[in-house]
Amino acid sequence: LVERMRAFGTTIFAEMTDLAVRTGAINLGQGFPDTGGPPQMLEHAAQAIAEGDNQYPPGPGVPELRRAVAAQRAERYGLHYDPDGEVLVTVGATEGIAAAILALAGPGDEVVVFEPYYDSYTAMIALAGAVRRPVTLRPAGGRFTFDPDELRGAVGPRTRLILVNSPHNPTGTVFTRAELEVIAALCREHDLIAVTDEVYEYLTFDGVEHVPLACLEGMRERTVAISSAGKTFSVTGWKTGWVTGPAPHVRAVQTVKQFLTYAAAAPWQRAVAYALTSQREWVAGLRDALQAKRDRLIAGLEAAGFTVYRPQGTYFVQADIRPLGFTDGMELARALPHKAGVVAVPSQVFYDHPEAGAHFLRFAFCKQDHVIDEAVRRLSALR
Ligand code: PMP
Ligand code: GLN
Repeated sequence: LVERMRAFGTTIFAEMTDLAVRTGAINLGQGFPDTGGPPQMLEHAAQAIAEGDNQYPPGPGVPELRRAVAAQRAERYGLHYDPDGEVLVTVGATEGIAAAILALAGPGDEVVVFEPYYDSYTAMIALAGAVRRPVTLRPAGGRFTFDPDELRGAVGPRTRLILVNSPHNPTGTVFTRAELEVIAALCREHDLIAVTDEVYEYLTFDGVEHVPLACLEGMRERTVAISSAGKTFSVTGWKTGWVTGPAPHVRAVQTVKQFLTYAAAAPWQRAVAYALTSQREWVAGLRDALQAKRDRLIAGLEAAGFTVYRPQGTYFVQADIRPLGFTDGMELARALPHKAGVVAVPSQVFYDHPEAGAHFLRFAFCKQDHVIDEAVRRLSALR
């Protein structure tokens, strides 16, 4: 393994899902739903295969999906992108993130990330030979946020990119317009490119709304936005994502993407185009169902003795383990299947500063109610 990747062993998601499979524990670790997507979308995929949509699609993505993505950004957010040249279909958001970082950050460049961070960001920054500058999200007023001065302090003459994930995995924070304004002002002042990870764009709760950073003044021209079908339509295994941004940036990302995978799988693309256009009510139903699941899991975790932060979006809650007498989340995550028959993710792997995150476990609530109920019943034995 090359030197720059040696710090990256097996991702925590694989490790924890493997642990769940080996022990038979309930898997509230890796974030994936245990029910299917919109039935008509699934039928569209089956039909695409049956009708012979099984050869290489165009590298940037099938035109139908690129048009559907452009229409979605326009209608939902008032952001206008040309489907030919400003929209790129990728193998999940993960490939979009990889291609964007490899295309836009080079050796020695600095990339600002909020910690806890999604694990592929740091691996890709390292692969690019770039340097990460983490800014910590800390609990304040019941949600996780950043200190604007700390963010400003992380930007220097070598900063090229800032990665912004909102709704944020694992804290569930949805950045407010005021928080985004701080980020946008820094981008404008220092001529930074923002790469935004918006995979949970539809999964926000209590009426909180996701605002894409590209909507802020001067940001469309410097934002590369990434999203994917996995979370919106409960098909994480389809690995169908997309990148939108100004043409020169998207061209740069495509230059890398074409040599990573050339194209994303064909049959899903047509089905996702259909769903983006025609399954909005289904998605609204998913959001409402997830909000109720969030509340169900939170009530159970609180009853079990954890201190829990109520997420404004995503699939996840952060639970502080200290009230139960534990301090090391990694140790507890590895013991939890044996102690309680449940798997969670130790959030500390998403931090450069372990003291900020060692005491959090991340629990996923994108599961059937009876699964959540059984998990919290088991967790109540920890006290
Ligand atoms: N970004 C975040 C914040 C995620 O939680 C995930 C996991 N779904 C991804 C990116 C990857 O998305 P995909 O499965 O579409 O590659
Ligand atoms: N995004 C999912 C999570 O955070 C898992 C993604 C993965 O397995 N790489 O749990």
